[in-house]
Amino acid sequence: MSDQSSTGAGWNFEYSYTELPELLYTKQMPTPVSSPKLLLFNEKLATSLGLDVGELTSTEGINTLSGNACPPGAQPLAQAYAGHQFGNFTMLGDGRAILLGEQMTPNGKLYDIQLKGSGKTPYSRGGDGRAALGPMLREYLISEAMHGLGVDTNRSLGVVSTGEFVYRETPLPGAVLTRVAKSHLRFGTFEYVFRWGTEDDLKALAEYAINRHYPQIKKESHPYLSLLNEVIKVHAKQIAKWQLVGFVHGVMNTDNMTISGETIDYGPCAFMNTYDPATVFSSIDVQGRYAYGNQPYMGAWNLSRFAESLLPLLSEDKEEAVSRAQEAISNFSKEYHREWYSGMRAKLGLFDEEDEDKTLIDRLLGMMEKSESDFTNTFLDLTFGQSNETKKIERFSEWESLWNSRLKRQNEDSSATFELMKRSNPAVIPRNHQVEEALEAAVTEGDMGKIEKLLLVLEDPYAHKGEQKAFNSPPDTSAPPYQTYCGT
Ligand code: AMP
Ligand code: MG
Repeated sequence: MSDQSSTGAGWNFEYSYTELPELLYTKQMPTPVSSPKLLLFNEKLATSLGLDVGELTSTEGINTLSGNACPPGAQPLAQAYAGHQFGNFTMLGDGRAILLGEQMTPNGKLYDIQLKGSGKTPYSRGGDGRAALGPMLREYLISEAMHGLGVDTNRSLGVVSTGEFVYRETPLPGAVLTRVAKSHLRFGTFEYVFRWGTEDDLKALAEYAINRHYPQIKKESHPYLSLLNEVIKVHAKQIAKWQLVGFVHGVMNTDNMTISGETIDYGPCAFMNTYDPATVFSSIDVQGRYAYGNQPYMGAWNLSRFAESLLPLLSEDKEEAVSRAQEAISNFSKEYHREWYSGMRAKLGLFDEEDEDKTLIDRLLGMMEKSESDFTNTFLDLTFGQSNETKKIERFSEWESLWNSRLKRQNEDSSATFELMKRSNPAVIPRNHQVEEALEAAVTEGDMGKIEKLLLVLEDPYAHKGEQKAFNSPPDTSAPPYQTYCGT
């Protein structure tokens, strides 16, 4: 490792994490790679972080993004955490990721800059610490698409191919992804300290989380209970957003659930085409634990694991602590339903609320499920008064006349309704077959054109530009069911 001679790239690192108890991290340099090549770079994101595009895309900059060189004064580290994976508690940690530093942006915000696929760490557990190119390009594409869709998510700054192979079932080209996140604190970070740290360690972690993400609750009478309540609220909002755009996360283990509420870990995730609550894409989720329709329930389950790890801080009296945690968790379902129905009303162009709205919404979804309608395209039909998808729905006109009379009962005129529907129903989502086609071209032919085009089309899915229409077709019905694989 050599230090970069200039700070011209704009790196402005802090290391607040190293003020936490030492059991939470290990200092660890990335492992250099043989011939780094920059394949994707997010100029807008770089600029918003206070980074210089020219410097970062130069040989020296690419050396930083591949882990071959560190900016002066950098003290990279790997974070320790645990987590419930498919229900089972396990010790984990950054096995193939390294926190390069926390970037203080020109407007005073702090973001983790993390290299993923950057070599072994003490938490690698027999893994090689590396990542394959296809999955890193996929993570870049999906995380940026999620951002465009309005979901609070970690972002992707760049993907560098390493010039080395990683060995999975077959040799695959390797890559390093630079990930940008409000932090990488996970439910699993708390579970880890609850299991192996002291109560003081737990307090230090909770204080850190409050300072970094929820400073407004510092002065409240029960700040740790408020922390739990805030995390419950952001997760209710996040999962409702997933449901509203048809996103299936696929690996909702507690190590992949963030304290900040950002969506993270784009391994086996995918977007639903046909509306079906049982939709699962991940090859390892054989029981459908993380199926589309189960996501809110799994969210509550995960939040319960987080609440358990906070129990020693909620009250000195154990029973009191449990009852406080239970009361907080019981609010998740209310919060989630509030978020979901409010999002669904917006998708239907409704500004206000009537008791009957739930029946109207549930009835539409029931009909969509029965007629196997495409989720995204059905709402586009409603927005633009088309019937490409809705014509497949039996007795759709009965539902439509109820909806039309409901629209007439609100004060807003039809143009306001149209605008609300346009900003609530995406013109385009990352369709799995198109994502795969773009990745295939990039990995096997080195052709980045299709990914770049997809990124452009997905940047603002609520713009409803003509060129987005071409990306709207669901896969051919004769195509085999789409499956995703993790651990890649
Ligand atoms: P994930 O399924 O991506 O959430 O990863 C679960 C755990 O496995 C995390 O602790 C990762 O750091 C670790 N892991 C995944 N792939 C590798 C790898 N190739 N080498 C080392 N650790 C890995
Ligand atoms: Mg993970």
